[in-house]
Amino acid sequence: MANIEHVVIIGSGPAGWTAAIYAARANLNPLVIAGDGANRERMPGGQLMFTTEVENFPGFVHGIDGQKMMGVLQQQAERFGTRVLQNFVTRVDFTSRPFKIWHINDLSGEAEAQVLAHAVIISTGASANYLGLESEKKFENNGVSACAVCDGALPRFRDNPLVVVGGGDSAVEEATYLTKFASMVYLVHRRDTLRASKIMAERALSNKKIKPLWNSAVEEVLGNDNDGVTAVRIKDLKTNATSVIECRGMFAAIGHTPNTAFLKGQMDLDPKGYIALKEPFRSTTSVEGIFAAGDCADPIYRQAITAAGMGCKAAIDAERWLAEQGID
Ligand code: NAP
Repeated sequence: MANIEHVVIIGSGPAGWTAAIYAARANLNPLVIAGDGANRERMPGGQLMFTTEVENFPGFVHGIDGQKMMGVLQQQAERFGTRVLQNFVTRVDFTSRPFKIWHINDLSGEAEAQVLAHAVIISTGASANYLGLESEKKFENNGVSACAVCDGALPRFRDNPLVVVGGGDSAVEEATYLTKFASMVYLVHRRDTLRASKIMAERALSNKKIKPLWNSAVEEVLGNDNDGVTAVRIKDLKTNATSVIECRGMFAAIGHTPNTAFLKGQMDLDPKGYIALKEPFRSTTSVEGIFAAGDCADPIYRQAITAAGMGCKAAIDAERWLAEQGID
């Protein structure tokens, strides 16, 4: 008889590790399928691996580096017996129990394998959106990026003007971070007010190296194969006038899409792909025995601390559900 895991946790951001800490302390011997690191979306640790300073997670007076925080959470989960598989989940079958989960590792070339689970916690997070321009795709990794922390220090960006698109916390954080390297950062936003939190917006707008370009949209990324990005053409959305901004890089910081494509047809998702929670304040989903936590199920808050709180709820819900089923 194949081994059946009590609880498998898919994803390893703050939601996944917190779920693991709680599940491990409840003697559920959780298995975390953390991601294989084959690309940014599959990175063990999730989005915080690309953040510098996390200043708003309670408990760290002076803030903490995102990568360090994820390392600490993993160690805490492992201390209580959590097992970690650095693989990526390709597909699931939630139509019957035990649930089936298939995973691979594209970095090591490991072939697809399957695990069985009585309960599953999904905490796969979300991934960065791009503008969707053809020219943007053409220059991806050649001046176009969605991650200042990953790419900002590259020589091509140093002492050169850069463009950041967006008006949320990500955009102002990326713009502020890029001022370390760039000669000037243009913050291109489609409205004339930022969505970002007041403190982060004020920090960015008071930075002399950040120039906001309001009511503006990038129409085309300009460049050539040798140099990559050399400029962007932007449109003033009020006057329709276009202008060219010389820059060596364009960073898209326009929000995220939940990493739930592998769940389509298996459970209820909302129109944007977020996992639909069955009841407010709970982690239960349309499939009994499947629980969700973090950004993949949260279109509203999407904070590290709310994800961690959701991970805690999911582990408690899973533990109670397993007990109700007589699985211990
Ligand atoms: P967001 O808050 O959804 O903001 C996305 C921004 O991109 C908005 O300003 C939006 O414009 C703009 N946008 C969306 N689609 C666009 C398009 N196609 N073309 C041009 N602009 C577009 O996303 P986020 O900034 O990634 O933040 C997500 C969550 O993470 C938030 O809850 C945020 O507080 C949190 N976060 C926190 C931190 C931190 O505390 N250190 C850092 C990063 C993110 P409109 O404003 O016009 O809609």
